[in-house]
Amino acid sequence: MDSYSISELRDKIRNYQKKDLIQRPTPFYKLENLSRILGGPQIYIKRDDLTGLAFGGNKSRKLEYIMQDILDKGADVVVTWAALQSNWCLQMAAAAKKYGIKPILVLFKTYDLPEEYDGNLLMDYLLGADIRIRNAGKGQIIREEEAEELLADVLSEVKQQGLKPYFAPIGGSMVGGSMDIPLGAIGYVDAYVEMIEQASELGVEVNCVLHASGSGGTQAGLTVGAVALGKKVRVIGISVSEEKKSYCERVWKIYRDTVEALHLDVQAKLNDVIVHDEYLKEGYGIINKDVSEAIRITAENEGIFLDPVYTGKAMVGLIDLVKKGIFKKEENVVFFHTGGTAALFPNKHNLIRLARSYSKNFVDQRKRS
Ligand SMILES: *Cc1c(COP(=O)(O)O)cnc(C)c1O
Repeated sequence: MDSYSISELRDKIRNYQKKDLIQRPTPFYKLENLSRILGGPQIYIKRDDLTGLAFGGNKSRKLEYIMQDILDKGADVVVTWAALQSNWCLQMAAAAKKYGIKPILVLFKTYDLPEEYDGNLLMDYLLGADIRIRNAGKGQIIREEEAEELLADVLSEVKQQGLKPYFAPIGGSMVGGSMDIPLGAIGYVDAYVEMIEQASELGVEVNCVLHASGSGGTQAGLTVGAVALGKKVRVIGISVSEEKKSYCERVWKIYRDTVEALHLDVQAKLNDVIVHDEYLKEGYGIINKDVSEAIRITAENEGIFLDPVYTGKAMVGLIDLVKKGIFKKEENVVFFHTGGTAALFPNKHNLIRLARSYSKNFVDQRKRS
């Protein structure tokens, strides 16, 4: 067997139960202005920033399956970790609270953001999450391999209180901790099917999907969807935190685990995993002029806000790849907006500083022409 119909793939996904956390389908439509300005392929957007849970984002789709697992396993506390302004931790805290589970968030300071209650950290606080802030190096990210050791004290503290913790891997992506199925990626196989249905209603044949990629679950899930439906759609991940070689391996592992978990009879190939790491620049969460410009261009032309850590960088990638001519004019490219917009606020100083130089260049260019 080499490909499945939409309903066959849906049936495979339905073998995993989930909690309802999001509004679906999230909007899908064409970015008319951006398509015209870039003069390249036809650009569509999938608004997964509008999932509806705690300001929205891709993590809430993943959490539908992960919350189910947390409840099935009878946990009363969920322990997870990520960077200080993590979207994952915020969404986890919101979902956990909704189901009466206590969230403990271990937040690592990885770049120069103030430790003040702003953006996601403000919302973590308002949600009453148990927040533990720790230091990590600048641009450093903590991976699953180290996390269990780094968080051992928190886990034993919970157990000593006679409570049962669920240890959730970063981003809900890689199997590990208490999660033994790539549940986050399964959420994104689901998202892929949803998007393809919306596209076909509009009579649009999708050629390519592009999105910000960080812990790998989103890309693995979208890639499984694309391969399972067998239409040769390229899924391009713009890496925001890791160099290409090791990141491809990470996505590849989650991809294979997802194919196995869904019992799909497809030929999964390493080549299906397409990663660009050239927009990573100074590293995770560090905003540069290109990111600030991409945010401005998208806001000014489409009235849509991207975030500075993930989707802004992905848009830098999309704009650059269009310029490099990797897409044909008649091709349809879907940009997945994966959320994260609350991070605009704690990054305001850098964004304003960079936006000033952007406006200045813009004025200079106009004078010259
Ligand atoms: C986590 C996140 C991503 C990346 O998704 P992964 O599944 O971790 O690769 C992209 N965009 C935003 C806004 C995110 O919060």
